[in-house]
Amino acid sequence: MKEIMVDFSVEQIEVLSQEFESKTPQAILVWAVENFGPSVAMSSSFQTQSVPLLHMVSQIHADMRIFFLNTQLHFWESLIFREQLQHDWNLNVADLYPDPKWKMFLRQFGLGLDMDDPDLCCFLRKVQPMQQALDGLRAWISGIRRDQTAERAQAKILEYQEEDGLLKINPMLNWTRRDVWRYINEHTLPEHPLLEQGFTSIGCVPCTRPVVSGDDERSGRWGGRGKTECGLHTAMFNQKDYASGDLIQTFGKQENNDPEQGEE
Ligand code: SF4
Repeated sequence: MKEIMVDFSVEQIEVLSQEFESKTPQAILVWAVENFGPSVAMSSSFQTQSVPLLHMVSQIHADMRIFFLNTQLHFWESLIFREQLQHDWNLNVADLYPDPKWKMFLRQFGLGLDMDDPDLCCFLRKVQPMQQALDGLRAWISGIRRDQTAERAQAKILEYQEEDGLLKINPMLNWTRRDVWRYINEHTLPEHPLLEQGFTSIGCVPCTRPVVSGDDERSGRWGGRGKTECGLHTAMFNQKDYASGDLIQTFGKQENNDPEQGEE
């Protein structure tokens, strides 16, 4: 466990989190900037539902670092949309890539890893790069909402992450899909170009499908794999050595069975 890097006790964080239930996302963002300055960063997947929070940040504190997980498996439309918003709103975006130490592994096993072991794939391409980027920061702003998944419904606006000494701030938690659209329409903001084709939630190409009108917003993600979260917002985020154990279990057997390896 790391030492506490925020200037609030766990009890104060609980109280503030309750108070923030009736505050606007903008008010929570202002509080975050005032209290953490350059030690707070935000993560964004640059989807349509990310647009309101990105727009608020551009108006409140455009210098804030925004991490984009560049898994190298995105739709080109997502990359264009990310570039467009960064340029138009002068956002301070940093792309995060998998740790170079997995380069050889991803070269050999990366294609199809989303089917062989999607949790491991998400860990290497998303969770670990975010763990590394947040190391040394004091607070992390995410755009999750309670109405997105059963897991997210249990989240709090302020969550102290003991393992990292990091405060996670979820200013959009109380917003619904309808609130997102109200804000987008009020401010005439752009939509992700794939939305009109039924992509209501967008991640990597191999794990994203369009949904039928009326379906759950995230039902097109990881279809048939029993997975609803990449791991950024679950207990996986605290597992710094997740990859090592899983790699040996899943792929060590394949290596051992490789007849070309021969015997010593
Ligand atoms: S969303 Fe799919 S392809 Fe992307 S990192 Fe996760 S499992 Fe891999």
